[in-house]
Amino acid sequence: MHDNILPLLETHFYSVAALLVIAIAGLCWLVKYISMRRLSRYLHKAKQEAREMAQISYLNPHPLIQISHDNRIVYANSAAYAAFPDLGKKGVSHSALSGLTDHFEIEEPIVREIALGTKIHHQTIAPVMRGDHRDLVIYCYDISQRKAYEESLRRSEKRAENAQMEAERANKARGDFLANMSHELRTPMNGIIGLTDMLLESPMKEEQKTSLKAVNKSSRNLLSLLNDLLDFSKIEAGELTIETIAFRPVDLLQQIESLHGPVARSKGLHLITRYADQMPDFIMGDPSRLLQILNNLVSNAIKFTPQGEVTIEMDGEAQERASFIFSITVRDTGIGIPKNKQQSVFAKFQQADSSTARKYGGTGLGLAITKDLVAIMQGTINIESAEGEGTAFTLSIPSKIADETDIASSHEALCHQNFSLNLNAKIMIVDDHPVNLLYLRQVLTRAGFEGFDEAASGREAVELYKSRAYDLILMDCQMPDMDG
Ligand code: ADP
Repeated sequence: MHDNILPLLETHFYSVAALLVIAIAGLCWLVKYISMRRLSRYLHKAKQEAREMAQISYLNPHPLIQISHDNRIVYANSAAYAAFPDLGKKGVSHSALSGLTDHFEIEEPIVREIALGTKIHHQTIAPVMRGDHRDLVIYCYDISQRKAYEESLRRSEKRAENAQMEAERANKARGDFLANMSHELRTPMNGIIGLTDMLLESPMKEEQKTSLKAVNKSSRNLLSLLNDLLDFSKIEAGELTIETIAFRPVDLLQQIESLHGPVARSKGLHLITRYADQMPDFIMGDPSRLLQILNNLVSNAIKFTPQGEVTIEMDGEAQERASFIFSITVRDTGIGIPKNKQQSVFAKFQQADSSTARKYGGTGLGLAITKDLVAIMQGTINIESAEGEGTAFTLSIPSKIADETDIASSHEALCHQNFSLNLNAKIMIVDDHPVNLLYLRQVLTRAGFEGFDEAASGREAVELYKSRAYDLILMDCQMPDMDG
């Protein structure tokens, strides 16, 4: 067989070689053709994507501008030409692109706001590399509306601030007016009460005494209303301050008993006081404001109780360290307050019933002031009541057990020192109100003082003071021209 093939190969060698070369060339062409086809498909796809991208940026509703390192506009989308109509004509010298030549060196995007006529644009300026050079792409966003909105918001805030200041000023003016008026009214009232008190001690006909007592009682009622109004205006103005001094709670109870006992008894009521054993001797607080609160609760209890009793209980609970919760309950067996009125009675000028003022008098200010005073003392006030059965108000006030130093400087400690009256003391009394001067004159004369000086104004008092040394000056605070 070999013998047959070899001569055959020898004869056709060139033809076989040619065939082989053709086959290899064909194969190479086929491979190249396939990769070219693939490349062209990739190219086509890339072109498509680039076109889509260009379209997106071209149709973007916000202006997009590219400027080259040699200060030419390389690209601007349709929104850029719409927003800046003369962009084509002015090129990079357009005011929307002002100052950009300073930014060719930036590495990171920067932002700025630029005002063009009535419009304000927010611009993001980003560096992009094109070949070896750095171009800038500027993306603009019209923020005129947002700015206008912000401005109107700022203006409304300013207006609201002004309105609030105006309201505060008006409130202060109202408070000052109320305080001044109450003071002006209280001054003659004190004169009337003081003088009628003194007159009542002098001999007079029974009939005259009855009338004078009525004058005195009406004046006292009026004064208590004025005091309420004054407190009310001080609370409203945030000017009411609370003292913190050492006091004996049992003294409070005794004061209440001596003030209200006779009134209760004249109505046939029992006034009962209870004082818990564990109460400390001295605690810290504001005894005169506590007395005011108790006065209000007890006088209400007596007023709204036709028969039975009024009980005042003082109790307390020691807390950690020297802290102490001081509680007082004023309970009566009176007319009670309907459930739906139990909170509203704490509101200003509110009474449980429209007939209350007619039947019992009052203004509806007492409990509102009481509630505010308790709140200023950081305490709470609770009410329990059933119609026809009675009412109980309970106060809980955080306090402190007084220590030795507190007690040494307390009112009681000072009052228990031995004082004697020096009738030779040089005294001046100052008041612009003649009735008050008359009252003060009589008080001092009754006490045994003689030869004291009188001044009817601050200025007069200062002149007198310059010429003579005084041991004591009793002076009205509020006077025209120069105050106390
Ligand atoms: P006023 O006593 O001047 O009317 P208050 O603010 O002290 O004002 O009290 C408000 C109202 O609460 C009273 O008018 C009364 O209707 C009701 N009230 C207060 N205390 C009692 C009480 N102990 N018993 C029944 N009603 C009361």
